Amino acid sequence: MVKAIALLSGGLDSTLAVKLMLEQRINVFALNFVTPFCTCTKKGCRHQAAVMAEKLGVKIKIIRLKKEYIDLVKNPSHGYGKNMNPCIDCRIFMFSKARKYMDETGALFVFTGEVLGERPMSQRRNAMRIIEKESGLEGRILRPLCAKHLKPTAPEIEGTVDRNQLLTINGRSRKPQISLAKEKGIDDYPCPAGGCRLTDPNYAKRLKEAFEHAEDTLNDIILLRYGRHFRLPSGAKVIVGRNEGENKILSSIAAHGDILLLETKDYVGPVTLLYNYEDVEDIQLAANLCLTYSDYKGEKTAEVEIGDNSEILAIPLSTKRTEVLRI
Ligand code: SF4
Repeated sequence: MVKAIALLSGGLDSTLAVKLMLEQRINVFALNFVTPFCTCTKKGCRHQAAVMAEKLGVKIKIIRLKKEYIDLVKNPSHGYGKNMNPCIDCRIFMFSKARKYMDETGALFVFTGEVLGERPMSQRRNAMRIIEKESGLEGRILRPLCAKHLKPTAPEIEGTVDRNQLLTINGRSRKPQISLAKEKGIDDYPCPAGGCRLTDPNYAKRLKEAFEHAEDTLNDIILLRYGRHFRLPSGAKVIVGRNEGENKILSSIAAHGDILLLETKDYVGPVTLLYNYEDVEDIQLAANLCLTYSDYKGEKTAEVEIGDNSEILAIPLSTKRTEVLRI
């Protein structure tokens, strides 16, 4: 039986692509990538792809990308899309990993749920050509949903895949995929809006600012998802939780790094984190920010507890002139 590697996100397009290949009696090995920038359902992208693989009856390998992927996002050789999304480099990276998995499993080709013209950066003809070439997979990437708009690939030419059964979907409309899903009895796929934070303009702004301050560890990147962010004049960063859920997450992250945690003493208030700080002036500004977003409404000072069991008197930030920058 011919083996092939599927890039499976667990979304509708990649699920349909797997279904089409299974119908052609291809032995499918799914591959899923979890990046630090994935927007996830409550249970997580990894879970979503794994559940879908189980339903489809295919084996799945999940690769969690960390530092090497962050490095790629910092400095992509093909540049960014509209925000901080380096889609061409990202696809080259993922396909290169898929090529290695192809070698390990003895698979003949890689396939995806990509649709020509669906995404502006990576799903254009020219971009697809670059991605295939630079990942070392020329002629070996099959896109079953739009294959008839593209040149025949090696598995089609070699006769391991029947081109006649491949499709002609293109463009941004999701209607053809939704009606195909109905036809194939697939009804519990996740909302297609999920995906990648790098395409979100607000997140991209925070990420760019963090990179400019050399904040690029996995922890730094994870912290960008939560809270209100402020840059102090010294270059230190303050993060103020916006709700109970974020407060819990910020507390747990603070436990693992060189990060100072601040909380108001006598009022309900946010968990506040301070990191990359230099001196007591930074701690004072962080305490003031912490108090600003608490239930404290007075004009006098109030106490804020800091991580090392000491306390500091703070005033709401609006009463003090400073150059704190909201990111
Ligand atoms: S949207 Fe994000 S995950 Fe998708 S190709 Fe672009 S950078 Fe990669």
